[in-house]
Amino acid sequence: MFRGISINEFREKFKTERDCLQYILDKKTAGGYSCLKCRCNQYGKGREWHYLRCKKCGYDASATAGTLFHKCKLGLLKAFEIAFRVSVRKKGMSSCELSKEFGCQQRSAWLWKAKIQEAMKSSGKHALSGDVEVDEFLVGGFSAGEPGRSHGSKDLVVLAIEKVRDKNNKITIGRAYCRVVDDASADSLKKIFDEHIAPQASVKTDGWRGYWPLGKDWNITKEKSDKGAGFPILHIHIMNIKGWLRGVHHKCETHRLQQYLDEYHFRFNRRGFMNSIFDKLITKMTQAKPINYKMIKCELNT
Ligand SMILES: [Zn+2]
Repeated sequence: MFRGISINEFREKFKTERDCLQYILDKKTAGGYSCLKCRCNQYGKGREWHYLRCKKCGYDASATAGTLFHKCKLGLLKAFEIAFRVSVRKKGMSSCELSKEFGCQQRSAWLWKAKIQEAMKSSGKHALSGDVEVDEFLVGGFSAGEPGRSHGSKDLVVLAIEKVRDKNNKITIGRAYCRVVDDASADSLKKIFDEHIAPQASVKTDGWRGYWPLGKDWNITKEKSDKGAGFPILHIHIMNIKGWLRGVHHKCETHRLQQYLDEYHFRFNRRGFMNSIFDKLITKMTQAKPINYKMIKCELNT
C-alpha cells in the first residue's frame, strides 16, 4: 500500500502508466475478483498482463473495466496525480484549478473530479454512535427564506457531527456527515439518521418539530439553538463548509452540492489518516461502477 503524502513520494512511486495500472490490478485482485459477466470469482491470466480472464465464462477484461478508471481519457498517470492532489490537499482542488495545473480541458478535469467525488461517497457503514449533534443550514442563493424553515432558492443541508475529546481533553468533532434535503420535514431529516446515526447514539437537536417523530427510534434531546450558540462546534463546522464552498469552488454547481459535501467529508473524516487517504480513494474507485458525462449531467434533471 502506498502511504506517501508528498508529491515527491507520489512521483517516486508512480512513474509510468504501467505503475498505475499495476496498482489498480492489485486492488482488484486483493478486493476479491468478480467477473463482470457472470459474477464468478475465479480468474486466470488474460490476454495481456493487466487482463483477468474469468475461469467460468472466459470473459477477459482489463483491470480498469467495471471501475471508475474505465475509458479514462486523461491517461492513468495524470488521473492518479489528480486523485492524489484532490485527496491529500487539505482543501482539495476545483476543476478550474486542475485544468490549469494539468493542462487539460476544464470539461475533462470536471468529469474526472466528478468521478473522484463519486468514490468519495460515504459507504454508510460507520454510523455515528456517541454524542451526536444534528442541525440544518442553508447554502447558496440570496433569498431570505420564509418563516417555518422554508428555504427559498437556497439549498437545505442537514449536518450530523459526533463529539469526541481530543488528547488534551478538549471537545472536538470526530466524524461528520451532510445530506442535502428537500425540506425540514421529519421524512427528509430521517434520511441522515438512517444513513449515519446509530440507534444507540445520544442525539442533540434544537426544538424544531421535524425532529419530534424521530424520537421514537433515536434517543433525542432538545436544546435551544440560540442562533447556533447552543451548538458551538457544529456551527464552526458549518462555517468551514461554507467557506470552503465559496473559497475553493466560488459557485458550486448546486445540483452537485451533495457530491461536494461528500468530497469535503471524505477528507475531513480521514484527516487523522492522511497517509492512507489516497490508497483508500483508489480502492473505492476500483470498487465503484463506471459513470460517464451523460450520467452525471442527467442528475441535473433529477
Ligand atoms: Zn464470468
